[in-house]
Amino acid sequence: MTPERAVGQSRVTVGVAVRETATVIVGSHIRTRGGLPSVVTGAEAIGAEAVQFFASNPRMWRPPAIAEDAAGAFREDCRRAGIGSTYLHAPYLVNIASPNPEFHRRSVELSRASLAAAEALGARGLVVHAGAGGPGEPAEALARAAAALEKIAALGTHAHVSVELMAGSRGAVASTVDEAVRLFEAVPNHERLRLCLDTCHLFAAGYALDEPDGVGECFAELQRSGLASRLVLIHANDAAFARGSRRDRHANVGQGEIGRVGFGAILRRPEVRGCTVVCETPGDEEAHRRDIATLKDLAAPSPGASGGDGGTPRPEASRASGAAPGARGSGAPR
Ligand SMILES: [Zn+2]
Ligand SMILES: [Zn+2]
Repeated sequence: MTPERAVGQSRVTVGVAVRETATVIVGSHIRTRGGLPSVVTGAEAIGAEAVQFFASNPRMWRPPAIAEDAAGAFREDCRRAGIGSTYLHAPYLVNIASPNPEFHRRSVELSRASLAAAEALGARGLVVHAGAGGPGEPAEALARAAAALEKIAALGTHAHVSVELMAGSRGAVASTVDEAVRLFEAVPNHERLRLCLDTCHLFAAGYALDEPDGVGECFAELQRSGLASRLVLIHANDAAFARGSRRDRHANVGQGEIGRVGFGAILRRPEVRGCTVVCETPGDEEAHRRDIATLKDLAAPSPGASGGDGGTPRPEASRASGAAPGARGSGAPR
């Protein structure tokens, strides 16, 4: 974290065109209780046109084991169910910035295995958190995260690595746009990387996503950084705690501190068009069906939409968290 560095001075130099569609595809993180078939039936039950899920037990180091015929059946089920976008999320245990060499090695290995599974399943990408290091070693943590991303992306799959920014938690490698730029620039083959923004994390890190002007400032910063073209995935989670809290606790869409006004402004941003939008929100099927309906409603074009420009947010990094989907803000860095 170098707050004195002017926002927008750093730029990722290699632009990559990644837009695949003109509208957002809305869906949800899906629990895979009954294996791959349950992902598709679960998605159909809540009106999800995009899915994200864990391909293996998120609390274990065991890699995904997906048979070729099961993968083929899954791709066919998705096609039949009209699921237009699929992402895998790396397990909770993965911390690509871990100061523990054994955890770091295992994080890289499990991420590589998960990316291979994403490829087999026809997923667009694998979501990997930017990670968190130990106290007082931000440069070392960034170097470890970058080295890990280099190794993971070296698999050379069609499925890309989507780096998810953190909630400003302690030791987090990247929670702000500027920190994301530094991380991407530290990865030699960064053209293989994409960006995942979690609205709850951004809000917790200090971005004023509860106000249309704040949304405008956030995306203007993203444009100036050169990373806007890398944005492929939005985790649409409302926030249970106040702006800048650095606490990663998700709330249902429109029912937290970001609120409907904030989500409306976010979903109408041009940078978000063509992105996949999935919620990782609490509650049962009914709650998720409602969240998806709300997101689709707010994403519908309306006259006079689009945010403002200019200004800078006041994000500061430093506290712990970094849990994955549906997160309760668990997780000290490992
Ligand atoms: Zn997320
Ligand atoms: Zn979260």
